[in-house]
Amino acid sequence: MKILFGFLASFALQTAHAAAPVAGEGLVDLHAHVFMYEGFGVPWFGKFNGPIEVKSWKEKMGSKINPEALEKSGAQVVVVALYTHPLFRGEPRDAIRRQIFTAKQFVKAHPHWVIARSPNELEQAHAAGKKALVFSLEGAAQVLETEQDLVEFIDQEGIRIVTLYHFIDDHFGGAALMRGTGSAANPLGWFKAWKNGTRDSQGVLVNTKGMTDTGRRLAHSLIQRGVWMDLSHATDADQVELTQISEKAQLPLLYTHTALRKYLGAERGISEIQLQAVKRTGGILGIIPSEDMLQDTPSRLAPCGAGGIPALKHQVQEAGQVVGEDAVSLGSDLNAPLSFIRADCNGSQFSDYSQLGAIWNSTQRGGLNVKKFVKVWSRVHTHPNESLNKASKK
Ligand SMILES: [Zn+2]
Repeated sequence: MKILFGFLASFALQTAHAAAPVAGEGLVDLHAHVFMYEGFGVPWFGKFNGPIEVKSWKEKMGSKINPEALEKSGAQVVVVALYTHPLFRGEPRDAIRRQIFTAKQFVKAHPHWVIARSPNELEQAHAAGKKALVFSLEGAAQVLETEQDLVEFIDQEGIRIVTLYHFIDDHFGGAALMRGTGSAANPLGWFKAWKNGTRDSQGVLVNTKGMTDTGRRLAHSLIQRGVWMDLSHATDADQVELTQISEKAQLPLLYTHTALRKYLGAERGISEIQLQAVKRTGGILGIIPSEDMLQDTPSRLAPCGAGGIPALKHQVQEAGQVVGEDAVSLGSDLNAPLSFIRADCNGSQFSDYSQLGAIWNSTQRGGLNVKKFVKVWSRVHTHPNESLNKASKK
């Protein structure tokens, strides 16, 4: 632990702001798979109501969050990413229902936490000194297919953020290509892009697939219901259209978990044009504190080559310079099967969620806080019908 605190202290000293850091004060984690076991099943190991299973930042397939770690993290708002693995979890809707059930059980046993279904509820909870979970869904396919699904998961259960696409192209649209071996997650999308040679202005290979009519219909239904669409994982082609839809409806853009494309070198990362759109719409974004997503980020401060907190800090600050410092937060993406971030060169530190606040504080001050999150979210939720009417008038 000495190494950890020494390391954090050294970065705290390098920060110009005078205010004493408070771990995770006001931290809004824009994307966390808190209940991964219920969504992934075997071969995932470790339940939320159980011990932390990973021992180092390198371990990908094990629980990094439990109730104690969540409390200690200092996060005030956690956007819970509900997710269902297509192969391992059986009926997808049931997997989502199990995660919602576990969340409700947690809140019942921990009355200083609430599930916030609106900006207003979140504001009230925060004013009362309570912390909040906000439900999001990652991957709409197989879950939001019918009107009945929308009634159940959006209207009744209160999912308020939807990441339309995930790893694989589907009947709603295309999924952004990942870096390196990650492109194997979307083999058809990758093959078509490779065959056609479709690249962005920086030469990064991009998926040719955009939104389908079914995807467009879903997007409009979600906007009508006051859902905030997350553009993470969407292809460039999807994003062009989703951005147009959002701008017509005067909605702020949201990227819950991303990394800068100029360093990631893959479509999955946010491009300069997309950052500008976030700025233009008054949107927000979360950077993923994972070595897998921060690769090739330059950092003179790195104690052991590239990566680590200096790389995260570099990305947070660079994104902040475009979209505004207070529009950037973390999208931890824990428990996704990704590495976490390392604090030293031995790979022995930063392995669970309890350290999220310390990571954030060692990165910067003045990022997205709860008040700002409420303010931006209010623009989505307050006038859903008006938004749809605007979006429909082309
Ligand atoms: Zn994701």
